[in-house]
Amino acid sequence: CGIFAYLNYHVPRTRREILEILLKGLRRLEYRGYDSAGVGIDGGNSKEWETNSKSIQLIKQRGKVKALDEEIHKQQDIDLDVEFDVHLGIAHTRWATHGAPSPVNSHPQRSDKSNEFIVIHNGIITNYKDLRKFLESKGYEFESETDTETIAKLVKYMYDNRESDDISFATLVERVTQQLEGAFALVFKSLHYPGEAVGTRRGGPLLIGVRSDHKLSTDHIPVLYRSSGKDKKPCTSMPRVDQDTCLFPVDEKAVEYYFASDASAVIEHTNRVIFLEDDDVAAVTDGRLSIHRIKRTAGDHPARAIQTLQME
Ligand code: GLU
Repeated sequence: CGIFAYLNYHVPRTRREILEILLKGLRRLEYRGYDSAGVGIDGGNSKEWETNSKSIQLIKQRGKVKALDEEIHKQQDIDLDVEFDVHLGIAHTRWATHGAPSPVNSHPQRSDKSNEFIVIHNGIITNYKDLRKFLESKGYEFESETDTETIAKLVKYMYDNRESDDISFATLVERVTQQLEGAFALVFKSLHYPGEAVGTRRGGPLLIGVRSDHKLSTDHIPVLYRSSGKDKKPCTSMPRVDQDTCLFPVDEKAVEYYFASDASAVIEHTNRVIFLEDDDVAAVTDGRLSIHRIKRTAGDHPARAIQTLQME
């Protein structure tokens, strides 16, 4: 029911700070009502980070954000002082529609036991039974009763069946959304794409806040249409040349992104926001934001403005 994600790119943050930002975001969304809450962050201690063995840790709890906060502080193995130069944390408050409120049914939902892909979801996937049957027939084992878990498994399915190794996270998510029916706002995190975020929506709200001490390169982000045959990873391949297709601060450093289902969770961090439209797939890769669509349709505006919210 509430989505909040925080990505810091070359803005060093301790795990403690990251969790505080995530929990604060969830508290701002509390008024919408919910029955459980959860977060997904990078796991491991600093030693493991030095040796590059990455992991994703999920902490989920039934009840209030306060209960989640307590659960986080109960974790013995979580080192709050580890500092991350680049990190994506995702957080969710759930209003159960499919499956009772419980830790396993809370979000983030995951692709598998090693948390290769995790997702938070607002809304309902109406064809989840068919998707689940299909995925079970392919050997994917489900642990929750949620419709959302099919999304986490489906993105892994797309990854496991990718035709090339340099496939982008946005492309995988685009393939997933083509299979989904119903209403959703989604944010994904993956072990295979560390420090990258992908968000999309259809029928549910999702916006992205941007914060940087540096001037932004543009006040709008052109939409990249797959059918135009453009490079799927424009922001990583030619950041300078292709700068009008992505958003980044001019010196390419120190940027923070906030994905949220409601502007009230973002406004304390930044007043510069981009509202996504139905079926937009927004991706942050190497600190740069790009927006993708499958094809251009009549009446479609080929750019998303960076709006300035009025601070109260
Ligand atoms: N349908 C999903 C579930 O029951 C998401 C509910 C929500 O929007 O919080 O887990």
